[in-house]
Amino acid sequence: MKKIRFYQTINAKIVFIIAMVIVFALQLIGANFITQTERQLVDNFTENQQLQMNFMENSLLPYLEMYENPEEAPEDVDPMEEIDTLISDFSGTAITGIVVVDSDFVVLGSNDNTQQIAVGQLLNNDDIRAAVLQGNSNTRQVINSATNARRWRMIEPVFSSEGTQSVIGAIMMESNIESIYEQITDITLIFLRASFIAIILSAILANIVSKALTEPIREMQTKAKAIAEGDYSGEVTVYGRDELGLLAENINELSEEVESGQQRIEAERRRLDSVLSNMSEGVIATNRRGEIDVVNNMARIMLDQSTEDLVDQNILFVLDIEKTHNLRDLVERKEDVLIGFDTDEYPTILRASFSLIQSESGYISGVVCVLRDVTEEEQIEEERKQFVSNVSHELRTPLTSMRSYIEALIDGAWKDEELAPRFLDVAQSETDRMIRMIQDLLHLSRIDSGKSELNKELIDLTALFMQVLNRFEVLLDSEEYRDNNYTLDSQLLTEAVFVDIDPDRIIQVFDNVLNNAIKYSPDGGTIKSTMSLSNDQVIISIQDEGMGIPKDDLEHIFDRFYRVDRARSRAMGGTGLGLAISREVVEQHGGRIWAESVERKGTTFYIALPYIPFEEEDWGWE
Ligand code: ADP
Repeated sequence: MKKIRFYQTINAKIVFIIAMVIVFALQLIGANFITQTERQLVDNFTENQQLQMNFMENSLLPYLEMYENPEEAPEDVDPMEEIDTLISDFSGTAITGIVVVDSDFVVLGSNDNTQQIAVGQLLNNDDIRAAVLQGNSNTRQVINSATNARRWRMIEPVFSSEGTQSVIGAIMMESNIESIYEQITDITLIFLRASFIAIILSAILANIVSKALTEPIREMQTKAKAIAEGDYSGEVTVYGRDELGLLAENINELSEEVESGQQRIEAERRRLDSVLSNMSEGVIATNRRGEIDVVNNMARIMLDQSTEDLVDQNILFVLDIEKTHNLRDLVERKEDVLIGFDTDEYPTILRASFSLIQSESGYISGVVCVLRDVTEEEQIEEERKQFVSNVSHELRTPLTSMRSYIEALIDGAWKDEELAPRFLDVAQSETDRMIRMIQDLLHLSRIDSGKSELNKELIDLTALFMQVLNRFEVLLDSEEYRDNNYTLDSQLLTEAVFVDIDPDRIIQVFDNVLNNAIKYSPDGGTIKSTMSLSNDQVIISIQDEGMGIPKDDLEHIFDRFYRVDRARSRAMGGTGLGLAISREVVEQHGGRIWAESVERKGTTFYIALPYIPFEEEDWGWE
């Protein structure tokens, strides 16, 4: 937040404005008051002077008339002397000098020492002349050149008391007006002092008042800043029920609202986060330009990259589809995209669905991409297709060959005593093979659908395996195999090993493996069987010296219909399902079957079944 300079504060502004208002008000009042006072004082002064002048005039009039008409004067009265006595005895207020002239401008009496106007002297300045000649009174301020002081000069004509109204002289009276101005200066000074104190006091008062206003505002400002920074603790003090009090209450309410809103958003965010991170689908959200800004855990795992590597990257580049797709088409067409990914561990197929992130107003703020790992589904689908094609192929081949034999028979071969039985023989063996294959398929389908239940019982595996081997011994001794020189070598355990198994199914597994050992050892050789025990399993191995299995095929031989040499297998009546069924059966028992092989040297199959060592107490013998 910006720092407010002192002169920008409301406090400073209020103090300044109030001080200015007071200054202007005082100026106005002062100017008015002082002018009025001055006028009043001057008026009083002039009035007073006029009264004194009138008094003087009345006093002097008889003597001036006597002076004008000496014949009318009593003998013992000297008008000049009387005038002089009157003037010098006159003690009016502020009078500094009185000069009396006759109608010829001759000074008859004077007590003005400063102007040094002597009796008998002519005094005919303009004002005196105007008074004597025209009968005009004259009043004005003059500056005394000697003292430099302001004087009030009043010149009045003296008219004869007879009806002629002729001017018989004039009186000039000067008085000191300086005291009036000194008084005004004093008043002005008092006023200025009072104004100064008033300004200082009002500034202090304004400061106190504005502090009372700005303090709550400052508190609210601090609180608002704290709210903006996410600190909702504490409340603004509500000082009263005025506007500021209401504002403070509103800010407190706002703080609570924002806090609970923030908590709601936070809880919502956490909920969303946990939903996102616990989703089995990968979720990627981008901005309008397709740059990633949110990735959940699963998306990271699926793409095998860290959040830092993904954030801000373009989603099309991350999914490696930038050459084939553009974001607009993906979103508009709502098409899912299948993306093949080879992570460090295994190849993955991801299905990506795109949709828009749009506000209520329709503003598009980004795109959401949901990733689903469809590797398994795709593999199952692929296997299903493969399986259907394999089954059709496996059935068509024997049917085609049977058809050609039957056609040959229809075309006359049935008459041929030598060919006919051979052809029928082939047809029969192909039919047998098809029946076997269909039985195997049904068996597998039962296992797949969980309908194939095991009839388990505790069986001595040593004895069971021995029985199977004995049966094979007899078989290899038969005419069919005698020439191939097969040898059965077995190193079985001497003791009984009791395991919980379905004997029919396990015999089927041994039969399959032993049959294969014979089938894929065209040159005979030794078929060696061993049996061993570990802590928790019994392992039977069947080793032949046959053609072996190439390394690349080894991992597939337990797959349905997988054969290393298709023609050979078929010729030997194989269905390609024997090992697949064996694996299902062994796994149903909780065991494991696997093979090791060296090409042209032979193959060893291992069948491991779970085994719990037999404790004597289990019989209940004490
Ligand atoms: P099939 O009916 O073809 O024998 P299996 O499922 O029993 O089907 O075996 C799958 C394939 O594994 C066989 O086609 C064969 O190629 C190979 N195979 C199985 N056992 C052996 C073995 N002992 N030696 C060499 N190859 C074998």
